Amino acid sequence: MATGTISQKIFSRASGSANLVEPGEILEAGVDYVMSHDGTSVLAIKAFQEMGSEKVWDPERIVIPFDHIVPANNETAAELQKDVRAWAKEQKISNFFDCGFGVCHQVFPEQGFALPGLLLVGADSHSCTYGALGAFGTGVGATDMAEIYSRGRLWFKVPETIAVRVSGRLRPNVSAKDIALMIIGTLGADGATYKAVEYIGPVIEDLSISGRMTLCNLGVEMGAKAAIVPPDKKTDVWLAGRARQPYKQVHSDPGSYDYEYEYDITDLEPQVAVPYRVDNVRPVSELDGLEVDQVFIGTCTNGRLEDLAVAARILKGKRVIARTLVIPASREVLLAALQCGIIQTLVEAGAMIGPPGCGPCLGAHMGVLAEGEVCVSTSNRNFPGRMGKGGLVYLASPATAAASALSGYLVVPEISG
Ligand code: SF4
Repeated sequence: MATGTISQKIFSRASGSANLVEPGEILEAGVDYVMSHDGTSVLAIKAFQEMGSEKVWDPERIVIPFDHIVPANNETAAELQKDVRAWAKEQKISNFFDCGFGVCHQVFPEQGFALPGLLLVGADSHSCTYGALGAFGTGVGATDMAEIYSRGRLWFKVPETIAVRVSGRLRPNVSAKDIALMIIGTLGADGATYKAVEYIGPVIEDLSISGRMTLCNLGVEMGAKAAIVPPDKKTDVWLAGRARQPYKQVHSDPGSYDYEYEYDITDLEPQVAVPYRVDNVRPVSELDGLEVDQVFIGTCTNGRLEDLAVAARILKGKRVIARTLVIPASREVLLAALQCGIIQTLVEAGAMIGPPGCGPCLGAHMGVLAEGEVCVSTSNRNFPGRMGKGGLVYLASPATAAASALSGYLVVPEISG
């Protein structure tokens, strides 16, 4: 077979092509696993029924986590969730994760569905997170999801691949979030539209799986169809005891990328995306002193144990000034954070702890902002109304968020190496 990228190789296998498929080619491919959450399942089920479909193609390959409005906050949400539960039961969907398991993009990998070399589709734009484990993960709308529920297949255009090589030495107060924001700020919110972004280089190799998830999660914020980190030994270690099926790592061949960008992050400072654009990125130091009403640490971007640990390290023995909401990304994260004392540290510092889920990230549940309020959030979107009408969301790392919670102002976190 000719040389190709991870994406080309995954689409070649998934489409059953004897030859390596080429970027730009439009093909139909079989999906390995699909995910839809409480919000999008409602729409996908409706489309599935309107198409006249009665049975899903494979109940073992459909994953439904409830995360967007959990527990239900009103009768409407409760009724919709009840309908999805009933449909999942009728269709014998066993991979159903009800309220409390956590955010879909954390639960899906934790439960071993995101594996190297697989084609994964979620009815949620941040399904690109699964690329952190060497998969091609991408988001679709409800009608496409209904088609996959029904046949297990969908059409795709094989994307070109942008290789983003990151080298240099990370400062102690700089993390994957800052790298991702800096890259989005440089390339722009449409800088990778319909491309696969492959993150490579020594800094990426050094990142934990958690950091790689943060990086890949933000891929769609520059328009990427998928964001992928080449799998390695860390991937296998993380997946040990989780993987739902055997898998084979897939790698890009030398010289197969369509575009290559290089970044040296040695001098990178903590970054912040200023409302109302995710690519309106500036060093935190330029906005030092901005008064903060709320701090939110959580979401599929930065609600993992590593993120909570950074916050706890900064808050230990101190007291927050800005109201602070911490929402672990999953039950697994919450349990681990309880066991190692992180939750106690955060609560003693004055933080509120919410149940695993999306929380206020989409402005539909607890912790939404009032008009004109400023929130430093570890989430991934800051467009108008995202966390409440008139709220101002500044996207930053868990370290920046925790340091800002302590001072009541946006500040550069101080962390010694
Ligand atoms: Fe979407 Fe936010 Fe939930 Fe992630 S945490 S899935 S970005 S609503």
